[in-house]
Amino acid sequence: MKAVVYEAFSAPPHIMTVPDPTPEPHGVVVKVMATGVCRSDWHGWVGHDTDIQLPHVPGHELAGIVEAVGRDVTKWKVGDRVTVPFVGGCGACPECHSGNHQVCDRQFQPGFTHWGSFAQYVGLHQADINLVGLPESMDFTTAASLGCRFVTSFRAVIDQGKASAGQWVAVHGCGGVGLSAIMIANAVGANVVAIDISEDKLALARALGAVATVNASEVAEVAEAVIETTRGGAHVSLDALGHPTTCFNSIGNLRKRGKHVQVGLMLAENSTPAIPMSRVIANELEILGSHGMQAHRYDAMLELMRSGKLAPEKLIGRTITLEQSIDALMTMDRFEGTGVTVVTEF
Ligand SMILES: [Zn+2]
Ligand SMILES: [Zn+2]
Repeated sequence: MKAVVYEAFSAPPHIMTVPDPTPEPHGVVVKVMATGVCRSDWHGWVGHDTDIQLPHVPGHELAGIVEAVGRDVTKWKVGDRVTVPFVGGCGACPECHSGNHQVCDRQFQPGFTHWGSFAQYVGLHQADINLVGLPESMDFTTAASLGCRFVTSFRAVIDQGKASAGQWVAVHGCGGVGLSAIMIANAVGANVVAIDISEDKLALARALGAVATVNASEVAEVAEAVIETTRGGAHVSLDALGHPTTCFNSIGNLRKRGKHVQVGLMLAENSTPAIPMSRVIANELEILGSHGMQAHRYDAMLELMRSGKLAPEKLIGRTITLEQSIDALMTMDRFEGTGVTVVTEF
């Protein structure tokens, strides 16, 4: 099969012909029909992820068609249209037994712990636990755009932040994660204030339901501006970018007993940011993480899509070829363009 392979961190990947994967007894092989390009792939490529062993094939936001099925798999058959969360559970550890596959002790992550979906085929483990069937009405490109940023945002807003109608939700950073979170918070009736330094992205945020925006490059104090806009601070606030400044501002703009959810990755030199801990104590703030979402929680998200309240296809920026994915991957840290880039030609 054709695959994007890198043999050293930060060195340009190449399109190579590599052996087709075969399914594990508990797994499947999926013919990749669409795969998103994500900042996590960039982090992996530059060497921020210790799970990656070289040579490596990136890609974790995938949707496709089951091509081959392992002998122990009972729920899936050749031809099924599927996607997966970016964290797959082992099915046997205490976290998986409690239903929290997203923090499994022995995670399967395509594109990180194993070869990923910047390829014509990808092997997926523990298929009965980790695969999600796609509704007939959902195209592969939209499905691929869900796998990482959208589901992580869904878990951040709904399951971790517990945002509800009438609450203020602040979203710091309006890239793929932030725009997803804005749409999801808006869908459950929360009032969203979006924060970014790009007017283009703030315009898109408003189009997706943000009722207020703050241009962080034009105010002296971002947290103060959000507190003023929300008349007392956000009930739930997300750092959707993953940067010490947005993390600090997100905690700083909470009202008493508010919840900060860290969604954007904090890696390398950013992994131990300053936290206004005195404020956390005095105001009884909560600091939470969001790390993907279990396959069994996809139903709730797909139901909101069926109702028409969520339209993730609006977040798709452009579709590209596997050849073009190399350039898209290497320039992912430059924050160019709006929306999610999806590879659709292999
Ligand atoms: Zn597990
Ligand atoms: Zn991703």
